[in-house]
Amino acid sequence: MSIASDFIWFNGEMVPFDQAQVHVLSHTLHYGLGAFEGIRAYEQPDGRAGIWRLEEHLVRLLDSMRMIRMDLPVSKEELRAACQDTLRKNNFTEAYLRPLAFLGHGQMGLGARNNPLNVIVAAWKWGAYMGDEGIVKGVRLKTSSFSRNHPTAAMSRAKVVGHYVNSILARYEANDDGYDEALMLDHHGFVAEGTGENVFVIKNGVIKTPPVTNILPGITRRSVIEILKHEGYEVEEHLFGRDAFYVAEEAFMCGTAAEITPIASVDRRPVGDGTPGPITKRVQQIYMDAVKGKVDWLHHHITLV
Ligand SMILES: *Cc1c(COP(=O)(O)O)cnc(C)c1O
Repeated sequence: MSIASDFIWFNGEMVPFDQAQVHVLSHTLHYGLGAFEGIRAYEQPDGRAGIWRLEEHLVRLLDSMRMIRMDLPVSKEELRAACQDTLRKNNFTEAYLRPLAFLGHGQMGLGARNNPLNVIVAAWKWGAYMGDEGIVKGVRLKTSSFSRNHPTAAMSRAKVVGHYVNSILARYEANDDGYDEALMLDHHGFVAEGTGENVFVIKNGVIKTPPVTNILPGITRRSVIEILKHEGYEVEEHLFGRDAFYVAEEAFMCGTAAEITPIASVDRRPVGDGTPGPITKRVQQIYMDAVKGKVDWLHHHITLV
């Protein structure tokens, strides 16, 4: 998969891919203060691009920026148009969209507050985040030795650039140990989430997911809860330990990038019989149909381009 495209929206202009560059003394590059989003557009039945839950992603970007005290130099409406234009200009009907707000160069040091704020929206073609096999057969997780950022040290509700050092170290550790992804616990030892995905566990028809205390409140998580409720299932939001996975019948991860990815095993212990279960497959099917514009009651979440 290539991250290439023809144009990147850069502070209000469409800039050719190769020219979308910044200075090496850009503040965010050194200290990590920045906020981003991950959004997906899918080709709709009429051949147009449809952006899934764009409004919620834009609101979360603004919230992330507020939490780190960045003032957006463009309005939410301009950003919405930027996302649509980036798809149009690149002739993408299906793509991953990456808005990013970051500080440019000017002054150095942690107290610098007047560096210019830059905003980009890039788009690229991105297939299954955890691989084509992972999305069909499920992924293998390892409980991480890195716990999720403590809530007094980082803002778990925010997609902040620097927070992802925590996720990357956990992901590297899991991959180096032969697993696909890390399962991250919070500072009390309760299950939090993956490195960039929320998690769900199912046993005896009871579906549970950690509450939004020390996890990123995923928009896919919300979609999944809506889909499950519509299908007549109850979803419990409460804390549980890793052992819930050891006795689960089914489990899956979800995120804009990961979509709905079944969990095959955790710490080498198979989840159920190690293959995706019926509820997981049902959610996966409905979610993919929904984002592709094939589910009536979820149509209102799609912004056509
Ligand atoms: C982005 C992200 C998710 C998934 O959120 P979505 O809104 O569903 O894409 C989950 N956890 C972390 C840490 C994330 O960064």
